Amino acid sequence: MKAFVLLHTEQGALPKAALEVLNVACGLGMPFSVGILGQRAACAADTVAACGATAFEVVDVPEVAQPRYASDTAAAAALIRSAEADVVIAPQTSRFARCLPGVASRLGMAVDTHIVSVAAQDGAVNAQRWFYRQRILSSFSREVRPWMLLVDGGVQAPWQGAAGTANAQTVTVDFGEQRTTVTGIQALAADAQTIRPEAALLFVAGAGWTKKQKDGQFQIGRAGDIIQSFLGKAKASLGSSKSLVDLQSEGQETLGFMSHMNQVGQTGSTPRHPKGLSTCCHGEEPHAVGWRFITERRAINLDPNCGWAQGKADVVYVGDAFEIMEKVNALLGC
Ligand SMILES: Cc1cc2nc3c(=O)[nH]c(=O)nc-3n(C[C@H](O)[C@H](O)[C@H](O)COP(=O)(O)OP(=O)(O)OC[C@H]3O[C@@H](n4cnc5c(N)ncnc54)[C@H](O)[C@@H]3O)c2cc1C
Repeated sequence: MKAFVLLHTEQGALPKAALEVLNVACGLGMPFSVGILGQRAACAADTVAACGATAFEVVDVPEVAQPRYASDTAAAAALIRSAEADVVIAPQTSRFARCLPGVASRLGMAVDTHIVSVAAQDGAVNAQRWFYRQRILSSFSREVRPWMLLVDGGVQAPWQGAAGTANAQTVTVDFGEQRTTVTGIQALAADAQTIRPEAALLFVAGAGWTKKQKDGQFQIGRAGDIIQSFLGKAKASLGSSKSLVDLQSEGQETLGFMSHMNQVGQTGSTPRHPKGLSTCCHGEEPHAVGWRFITERRAINLDPNCGWAQGKADVVYVGDAFEIMEKVNALLGC
């Protein structure tokens, strides 16, 4: 049995999610080759030359310099055909999540997404993924070959090793007619982007920030200043409870820089930061379930009996989050 690790570059280098998938392949105990598409793919292959792959193949032409469904599917399909592997493992980046299910369909492969681990034993390959909003962890296998597995980022440790000479071979791709032209990227300024999956800390704001405070007044402007100063200084990722982001759709005054994209929980996201700090959020189960993969959890709440204090956080600071975070900001020099 043979595995194939399919990767892409990001700004000319392999992203962390790619190195994580490489580590998964190294742990399988079966021969594997590596295919990379994107800008400077051959140079990227050199950076992982010591990973133990039997061969490196690349597609490094202007057509794949930018993510685009038509060219990415053509390049990925060519690399997979050339590899002739039983199992194809790829990172579940937004670029691959868009195009690889289409590639699997074209090549008659089975495909599974959101994989958190892959193991091989006695000729069988087993994968694991969560179901029902991260409540049930399932181990499963398939007999269809080739089988493609898209592995979630942030679960495995990234591969580390020396660079070298990979002697990557170029795979020729017939891109056919390309009808989509990438003219540029419109992105938020780095500071305006509050969801930062790579951040060391997840800072969660709850509805308490928008409630009347001990002087009987709403302090939403002050809340916004405190939160944004902290995010700017700590470079933390911003999460929210459902109650806070729902206020906006209910027409109430709230924090304008939050949206449903920030929501963490059962009907929101399940981020994977090493640390989390919850503020003015009660820690009810539908919210706290989204913290499943946060390793170290702390919370600030006025209520010593809040949900976080019921065994859902490692540390609960019972106090006023406005005062505490202003003090933290002062210590950070904001
Ligand atoms: C089917 C279903 C799905 C759901 N999915 C989600 C989900 O995905 N995500 C989610 O978040 N919720 C979800 N919910 C809602 C969830 O049950 C809670 O209602 C919600 O998380 C509460 O948000 P909150 O803790 O911010 O607000 P509140 O419950 O209003 O809590 C506010 C907290 O702020 C504290 N506070 C106020 N002022 C201060 C201060 N100055 N300093 C410190 N603390 C202060 C209060 O003590 C209180 O604990 C779901 C509910 C259902 C039924």
